[in-house]
Amino acid sequence: MGGLFGVASKADCVSDLFYGTDYHSHLGTRRGGLAVKNSDGYVRFIHNIENAQFRSKFETDIQRMSGPLGIGVISDYEDQPLLIRSKLGDFAIVTVGVIKNAVELANQLFLQESFHFAEMSDGEVNATELVAALISRQPTFEDGIRSAQEAIQGSCTMLLLTQRGIYAARDRLGRTPVILGKKDGAMAATLETCAFPNLEYSIEHHLGPGEVVFFDADGYEQRTPPGDRMQICGFLWVYYGYPASSYEGINVEAVRYRCGAILARRDDANVDLVAGIPDSGTGHGLGYAAESGIAFQRPFVKYTPTWPRSFMPQDQRIRDMVAKMKLIPVRELIEGKRLLFCEDSIVRGTQLQDTIQRLFEAGAREVHMRPACPPLVYGCKFLNFSRSKSELDLASRKGIRELEGDDPGDVSRFADPDSSAYRDMVQAIATRLKLTSLKFQRLDDLVEAIGLPKERLCTYCWDGVE
Ligand code: SF4
Repeated sequence: MGGLFGVASKADCVSDLFYGTDYHSHLGTRRGGLAVKNSDGYVRFIHNIENAQFRSKFETDIQRMSGPLGIGVISDYEDQPLLIRSKLGDFAIVTVGVIKNAVELANQLFLQESFHFAEMSDGEVNATELVAALISRQPTFEDGIRSAQEAIQGSCTMLLLTQRGIYAARDRLGRTPVILGKKDGAMAATLETCAFPNLEYSIEHHLGPGEVVFFDADGYEQRTPPGDRMQICGFLWVYYGYPASSYEGINVEAVRYRCGAILARRDDANVDLVAGIPDSGTGHGLGYAAESGIAFQRPFVKYTPTWPRSFMPQDQRIRDMVAKMKLIPVRELIEGKRLLFCEDSIVRGTQLQDTIQRLFEAGAREVHMRPACPPLVYGCKFLNFSRSKSELDLASRKGIRELEGDDPGDVSRFADPDSSAYRDMVQAIATRLKLTSLKFQRLDDLVEAIGLPKERLCTYCWDGVE
């Protein structure tokens, strides 16, 4: 996935840039980057954040940064921000999203012009560099952003730091949000609105899908109006968005609470306590507990002092180890108890399998699981939040494989919660995870909990509808 933050200020912007970018740390594990523009030019730092927090990596660098304009990024893949010298002038760029046709676009550039890219170590073109190249070929930044957005399959939200101000461009179908905030003497753009309150920005404008604005410390101008069609990622509210953030004016924690309440309304489980798998299952669990009248407790406590991040390293083995180390079971709340857990989602289920086993080892009598979204039947094509995961690794696909072998054909019947195929798949997942019971949220209920019309949401990973 990844996150971005940009700020234009009448004073020095570095402190706001540093903390504003840091508030996106839950969205990526690989690279962090900051760039500022001042009268001497651009200053930029990029660090590997796989084994250390963003703040600790940049604390020294920011002493050497100053200027009124800056952009920052948490990147789950490529090095960013990039500094570009072009016929449009010098600029810095950060992007969030995934470009599915990156190879084709790069090949077109090779054929049309004698073009070259600085390759990444694993041989792929840096996607942000590709976007910069597409933009720089056009007569203006606005034309460049528009042409890049038209050419890109996937999604690409970006910030461009230019000589005079910052362009903020939301991806064509608005799968990721961009929000402008304002305070006295400064304006900022963010993906996560949780970056605003403590930096004293108030929300000024939610960019629409494909909308492009240009802002400086005095205000913003719309350069490209929003498109009609929006497909904002529904998974933002369920799983990877931060609870204190709002997208389209809808708060994440409030949606999670409603998700849990709706799960409880459809449920008849007879249990001793309700819990959430920390962190993102907590809001869902609280909503479930309030609606059902069953006490919310914490049979697992997360060790936050040294394991604060929700996203984990790309290496599955290390990720599993970290997942285990950060969750500490509380035996007194587990032994002999019938436990119901709300979980944001079941992606592959490997960590959850281990968690469930630990609950039974600690003496749990029953473990019931209530994911707050439907089974993930399709891999995400539009954001890279699960870049390293093959669709076939999804827990649902493993269940389907058990039922129908390697070639199940069209799997859409498994996304219909009223079909027997769906029921069999859910049972296969429950059996594999050794759960006492498993009930997923229905998609229509999830859409109700979010509160946007279904056609304004991306729900592809659940129902395959594009
Ligand atoms: S496919 Fe799923 S994760 Fe990807 S953008 Fe759509 S809702 Fe979000």
